[in-house]
Amino acid sequence: MPHVPDLNPQPLPEESGGELSLRPRRLGEFIGQDKLKGNLQVFLDAARQRQEPVDHVLLYGPPGLGKTTLAHIIANEMGAEIHVTSGPAVERPGDLVGILTNLESHSLLFIDEIHRLSRPVEEILYPAMEDGKVDIMIGKGPAARSIRLDVPRFTVVGATTRQGLLTGPLRDRFGIIAHFQFYDNEALFQIIRRSANILGYGIEDSGAEEIARRSRGTPRIANRLLRRVRDFAQVQGLASITLDIANHACGALEIDGQGLDHVDRLLLRMMIERYKGGPVGLETMAATTGEDANTIEDVYEPYLIQIGLLQRTPRGRMVTAEAYRMFGLVPPTPEV
Ligand code: ADP
Repeated sequence: MPHVPDLNPQPLPEESGGELSLRPRRLGEFIGQDKLKGNLQVFLDAARQRQEPVDHVLLYGPPGLGKTTLAHIIANEMGAEIHVTSGPAVERPGDLVGILTNLESHSLLFIDEIHRLSRPVEEILYPAMEDGKVDIMIGKGPAARSIRLDVPRFTVVGATTRQGLLTGPLRDRFGIIAHFQFYDNEALFQIIRRSANILGYGIEDSGAEEIARRSRGTPRIANRLLRRVRDFAQVQGLASITLDIANHACGALEIDGQGLDHVDRLLLRMMIERYKGGPVGLETMAATTGEDANTIEDVYEPYLIQIGLLQRTPRGRMVTAEAYRMFGLVPPTPEV
């Protein structure tokens, strides 16, 4: 089966540097998320006026919406050093103590997948975020004692796919909580035009609109699709990306007009054919598609809900009448 990892939440090697970076570096270049951006601008300006580090920021939303990008932008806008790590990378409390005690004053600590920090590591983070202190144990057994060290004032920017994954105490320590929404087609259109420009490839408006429509509200997917469509255009000797080549490439990649790929379609079809449309549990959805349950929950499901093909109910996930119609099927009449 031709599997193109379009929805893979992890950046591909070609996206993590190497090629010219498509990542916006300043808030002014960051397209869309207007509400979030407007508020953040105020908080950054205010902190700058007070010559203080900005309050701790929690960024949450599905993969590929710009959380890492925004963390770097915050550092750039504040003129701050950024130290990047992730929940799974900080294995022991001592690792975090090492990071915290080596931070420069007013720097920014970006913790991706912050929900994956272990409890003992989280407990080091709390007093550091709140009071600029870390408690460390010296020695073992009866002679063990705890000492308090000062850490410089700093900002934690945490990223997570779902706010509910964080423990209450950790969530409470963030003064700024920014919820990313899926991007609308107009914002994606602008992102695609900007990226094509950086890649140095021409694109017609109708081509950019088509790629935008099929990008699942997600800039990372938009940029990835753009690169693949460019490959098709280039091999066919086209000077720019047209509507035709965008359609042709998406057809070859099996990405439909709404951005759904074969996993989305398989998922919905299985739910209709095997489970009468649901309710179906997450584990069953994972088993029927062969995808990881977290990927279903973080990547597939939010978009299917967003476009009205799937619903979450207290008993499980259900497909909507719209999903039946998408396959040319008649939705069952609701029982009364
Ligand atoms: P996340 O951390 O949420 O998974 P990233 O910050 O890595 O997402 O963003 C994925 C890619 O999408 C980035 O490489 C960047 O090029 C692009 N991108 C994200 N948000 C925007 C935006 N608002 N404007 C332009 N490009 C964006």
